[in-house]
Amino acid sequence: MNYQQILSITISVLAILLGVYNLIIAIKNHKRNSEIQRHNDKIQIDNLLDKAYDFLFGKNGYYKTKEIDKYNEAESQILRAKRSMKKKLTMIICSLFISCGIQAQIFQPTTESLQKHDLSWIKSKNAFDQSKLLASQIENEIKQLIQKYNYENSAIGTIDIPINTKKLDYLGFKHPNELGIFTANPISNTNSTSINKQLHIYRYENFYFSTEDDNETSQKNVYFSIRAIEILRTLYNDAFDKLFVQTLSYTGDRPKFEKWSNSNRFYWTAFNTTPDYIAKSYTSFLGAGYFPNIDGISDIGRYKNVVVIDVHSGNILGNDATKGSKPIYKKPTPEENYLLYMKEGLVETYIHEMLHRYIDYLYTDDKTISDIRKSRDLANFNAAEENAILNTSLSYFIRKGGISDELIKYYYSEVFNYNIKSLKDNNQYNTYIKIFADLPTISTGKDRLIFKLKVLDY
Ligand SMILES: [Zn+2]
Repeated sequence: MNYQQILSITISVLAILLGVYNLIIAIKNHKRNSEIQRHNDKIQIDNLLDKAYDFLFGKNGYYKTKEIDKYNEAESQILRAKRSMKKKLTMIICSLFISCGIQAQIFQPTTESLQKHDLSWIKSKNAFDQSKLLASQIENEIKQLIQKYNYENSAIGTIDIPINTKKLDYLGFKHPNELGIFTANPISNTNSTSINKQLHIYRYENFYFSTEDDNETSQKNVYFSIRAIEILRTLYNDAFDKLFVQTLSYTGDRPKFEKWSNSNRFYWTAFNTTPDYIAKSYTSFLGAGYFPNIDGISDIGRYKNVVVIDVHSGNILGNDATKGSKPIYKKPTPEENYLLYMKEGLVETYIHEMLHRYIDYLYTDDKTISDIRKSRDLANFNAAEENAILNTSLSYFIRKGGISDELIKYYYSEVFNYNIKSLKDNNQYNTYIKIFADLPTISTGKDRLIFKLKVLDY
C-alpha cells in the first residue's frame, strides 16, 4: 500500500469513526432532551400546582423558586445541546467532504485533469511549489528529497517525490515519425514495430515516453518512469552516468572492431504489450554522417541512436500469476504488485535493459562486448546474454542496496538458474561461458562470476 492509500483510508476511517461517535452523541442527546422535556413538563405541572397552592393558601414557598431555577437550567441545557448538535453535524459534513476531496485528487483524476497530460493529478507528499523555480532549481530540490531516504536500509520503493514539472512536455497523440528524430531510419513495419503507431507521447529532457492508452494507469506509468530516472540519476549515479550519460558520446572516431561508432541521443520508454514478460529493448540505429577524414580514412560512420525500452503495460498490472509483477511480489492485490514493480522493479529494469543496449553501444570498441554481440545469432545465446545482463545488474544493486530481496531472489531462481539449466541441457554451456569469462581464471560452475559484464563494478 502506498502512502496515498494509507492517508485516504486513515481519513475515511476517521470520518466513519467521527460519524459513529456523533451518531451515539446525537442519540444520547435526544434521550437527554426528551428526559429534560419530560422533566420540564413535570415542573410546569408542579408550577401550576404551586400556583393553585398559593391561590388557596397564600404562601410563596421555597419549593417554587427552586423549581423555576431548575426549569431555566433545563432550558439552557436544551439550547446548549442543540448548538452542539449543529456543530457536530457541520463537522461530519466537513470531514466527509475532505475525505472525498482527497480521494478524488489521488485516485480519481477527472477527465479534465487527465486531458491536461501534465500528471499534476498525481500528488506527492513531498510536493513543493515549482512555479517560481527554474528547472535546474527544481532538479536540485528533487535530488535533495531523494537523498533524504536511507536507501541502503530501506527499499527505494518508499521514495515519494514529485516530478520536475518544468521538464515535462506532452507532445500529443501522434506517430513517432512525426517527431523528426527517426528521419535517418524511419519507423516502419520492419523496424521498431512496437512504436509504429499513433501514441500518446511525452518528453522529459532526453527521455521520451509513450502510452497506447490515455487513462489513469497510462499516466501513472509515465510518472513512475520519470521517478525511476530521477532515482537512478541521484542514488545510482555511477551506473546512470555510465549507461545514460557517457553513451551520449561516441566510443571513438576510430573504432577497433567496426567501421562505425555508436552513441545514444534519446531514451524511449514505450508501454505496450510486445515484451514476453516485463520488458525488452532495442536500439534504433540512426546514421548521422561520417567522422572527418583526418588521416586518409573517410568512411567511419557515426550514429546517434534512440534506445527503445518496451514495458508490458498488461503484465505489470499484477493480475497474471506467471508473468509480470505478480510472480515477483506475490501480493494479494494486483494494485500492490503493480506499485511495487513501478516503484523499485522498474528502476532495476532500466539498468538491465540499458546493459543490453550497452553492448550495442560498445561492441565497436571492446573485445569481449564485440564477441558477445557477434554471438547473438547463435542458438539459445540469448539465455547466456540474459544471464550476464541480469547478474551484472543485480550484483550492482545488491552492492548498492535499495532493491528488495523478492526481486533479487525471483530473477536468480526463476530466470538465471533456468537459463543455466537450459544452456547445459542443450550442450551450449561450455562453449558460451568462454565468451564471457577469462577461463581458467574463473573455475567453471561459478556462474555468478562467469556471466558478468565488466561494466558496473570493475
Ligand atoms: Zn534482458
